[in-house]
Amino acid sequence: MRTERPELAKIFTECAKKARLTTNTCLFPGCDKESINSHIIQKNGILSSISEDRHLWEFNVDHFKKEYFLFKKTGINEIYTFLGFCNEHDTNLFQKIETQGEINFDDYESRALFALRTLCNELWLKLVIKKQHQCILNHPETISDEIFINKVIEQGDIALQDLKFFEDSLWNDLNNKTESFVFEYREFPKQEICLNSIFTYDTSEEILNHIKTFGTDKDRLVEIFVSFFHT
Ligand SMILES: [Zn+2]
Repeated sequence: MRTERPELAKIFTECAKKARLTTNTCLFPGCDKESINSHIIQKNGILSSISEDRHLWEFNVDHFKKEYFLFKKTGINEIYTFLGFCNEHDTNLFQKIETQGEINFDDYESRALFALRTLCNELWLKLVIKKQHQCILNHPETISDEIFINKVIEQGDIALQDLKFFEDSLWNDLNNKTESFVFEYREFPKQEICLNSIFTYDTSEEILNHIKTFGTDKDRLVEIFVSFFHT
């Protein structure tokens, strides 16, 4: 069913597109070069092994529909990509986990690189969402949604602060070879799913109880980085 507010859907969709294309500065610390569109996980070998006619299904949003979450079929060259790193850093940094058939899952650094790319993708998405909502605020038609949109930006800033903490910790760990993160590795029977995500270990109940008891949010939540794919 179509949305009852198509004019808003248009603004949301256009702002999302613009935000995705203009959030394009390399996420390598200190680098300000333009990012290239790169796959979150390697296309050849991993994504291609579960694709059909070089297409995959992804969870997506269509603001013009009333139930706006949906699954969408996308070509393997476009799916699962983000403007995370410049050509130099994307190529050199992830070399260890980019060579088809040669990933060493016992190697700490390789595991850390999967977590780093997952984290940077999440960071990029949060920056895109912030930019998208700032763009939406510039449209006078969205004035009745202003409180909600500002709340999204405010919550996004808190999430960005949390991610920054993990980003700094992971870079420090990689640069100093301290191996201070714990990475578990498991093998499963083949599943035709690919995901790289961050999950919060604290339950909603624990978070709410903390707010009830202390009157504030927890300083930091416990985050788990998950990469699940078929090699
Ligand atoms: Zn760079």
